[in-house]
Amino acid sequence: MELDSLYQAVILDHYRTPLHKGLSAEKDIQVHHNNPSCGDEITLNLIMKDGQIIDISWDGVGCSISMASASVMSDLLIGNSYAKATVILNAFVELMQSKGQGVGDEELLEDGVAFAGVSKFPARIKCALLAWMAFKDASAQVMA
Ligand code: ZN
Repeated sequence: MELDSLYQAVILDHYRTPLHKGLSAEKDIQVHHNNPSCGDEITLNLIMKDGQIIDISWDGVGCSISMASASVMSDLLIGNSYAKATVILNAFVELMQSKGQGVGDEELLEDGVAFAGVSKFPARIKCALLAWMAFKDASAQVMA
């Protein structure tokens, strides 16, 4: 898989020094998601209060794309309202569905745009989306 080298560096950086990795003692909800096609697994703890994302922590094993994406996702979404987090999540999903055509909104996605090239590789899209889908599941359960 060939990705733009600058973007590859961003992904490797998050993989080597993941943000918000290590499960919090407290949580409103915990979800576990896996991606059998690659072997990626993530456990995610979410704390929300009054519709705000207070904390996301996670632990997992998997490829560099899946773990780096968990790092980017958690760092991006913490501190946002549920509504804003949903906008960011939808923008990332749209980028992953762009078949290599999308570049992503850097203001919204920040380091998330580094995954743009992943959208060319159908087998890897699930890796990039794993943590985001775990958050979507967890937050929907809290908001329900
Ligand atoms: Zn993977």
